[in-house]
This record gives sequence, structure tokens and C-alpha cells, in this order.
Amino acid sequence: MVKDQIEARGIHDPRLLEAFRKVPRHLFVEEALQNQAYEDYPLPIGDGQTISQPYMVALMIDALQLTGKEKILEIGTGSGYQTALLAELGEEIYSIERIPSLAHRAITILNRMGYYNVTVKIGDGTFGWPEKAPFDAIIVSAGAPDIPEILKGQLAEGGRLVIPVGNSSVQNLFRVTRTPEGFKTENLGACTFVKLIGRYGWRNHA
Ligand code: SAM
Repeated sequence: MVKDQIEARGIHDPRLLEAFRKVPRHLFVEEALQNQAYEDYPLPIGDGQTISQPYMVALMIDALQLTGKEKILEIGTGSGYQTALLAELGEEIYSIERIPSLAHRAITILNRMGYYNVTVKIGDGTFGWPEKAPFDAIIVSAGAPDIPEILKGQLAEGGRLVIPVGNSSVQNLFRVTRTPEGFKTENLGACTFVKLIGRYGWRNHA
């Protein structure tokens, strides 16, 4: 998976590649799908949600430019797989999931794996986590109709927000960086995610 899907597509950060080698992706999917856990596509994790394609997870984390010292906010814990990778690559991880059953499953596995630098809460992540802000990195792993201003406001100086933005079937991945002069926005290319549902995301589930 790491060599053929991630390195071969141009991601070379050694810390990131090492984290992907270390975190056992099959433990984050149900038993019947474990033989497909390292394939080049997303998989269902229940409640109509998915664990993203490995390369997409790598691309998004790579865009955060982590050095190991960051306080990170993740919106959309899902299976907890990306959370575990962030725990390997950053210092303090805060993660929000709106579906309680997914959050509980992720908390159980992350605890079992010994990721004590992770705090998961259940709720609408489109509000961010104001009490823990500012963040050096914010990663949104569901597609939004636009970039929520409230999340930009929770970035530290130099902080990066990575978020898919578009309609419900296709999005573009954006990186917003807070600079002393204001916010810099880059388009990193097309992607497809489930909907970010909430006050500053999609209001409907359809
Ligand atoms: N990165 C995850 C993983 O490794 O398994 C996959 C995330 S999945 C593509 C997107 C997740 O975002 C779903 O679990 C969904 O319930 C969650 N989500 C959608 N809207 C949300 C919101 N407003 N706040 C928190 N989580 C949300």
C-alpha cells in the first residue's frame, strides 16, 4: 500500500510513510472487510460512512506539513484510522465525530492501541473546538459546501486547514494557511467525500 499507492503517487515525507507502515489499517474496518483493508479504495464503516482511500488520507495529512509538535483538530473521526496516523505525526490531537456509534468504536480502538495524546468528542465539528483553539492544523474529512469561517478563525498563525469543498458528488481539496497578511488558499485537486453535515456544513442528510 505505502509503496504502490502512496510513494508511487509522489508523497515522500519519511515520517508520514513510516506512520502509514506502522498503523494497522485492517484493525479499523470490520472483520469481513479486513482482506480489502490495504486496497486502493474507500471502504464502508457503517452508518453510511466510509474510511477514505489510503492515498487520499496520505494526501490530506501531507498537506498539513506536520513536524511532530502540532496541536491538531480533526473533524470526522470515522473509524479512527486517520486519527491514529495524526497521533503518530503530531503532539496533541482533538477529534470530533457526529455519529456516536462511530465515535465510541474509534475511542475503544485508539485506547487499546495506546494513543493517549488523542481526545475524541461527539458533536457537530463544523463549530470547531473553540475551547482548545488555536490549532496548528485542522483536517476536515468530509465534504463541505464552502470553507467555514469559524474554522479559519481557530487556526494559529502559520496554521493550515485542509478541507474538501464542493457539491455533494465532487469536491476540490483546499488548503487554507493563516499568514501574517491574511489567509492564503490553495486548490490541491479533485476529490470525493461523504457530506460534512452540520450548522456550518450541509444542513440536510440527503
Ligand atoms: N478519516 C476517517 C477515517 O479514517 O475513518 C473517515 C472519515 S469519513 C470519510 C467522514 C466522517 O465525518 C464520518 O464519520 C461522518 O460521520 C463525519 N462527519 C460528517 N459531518 C460531521 C460533523 N459536522 N462533525 C463531525 N463529524 C462529521
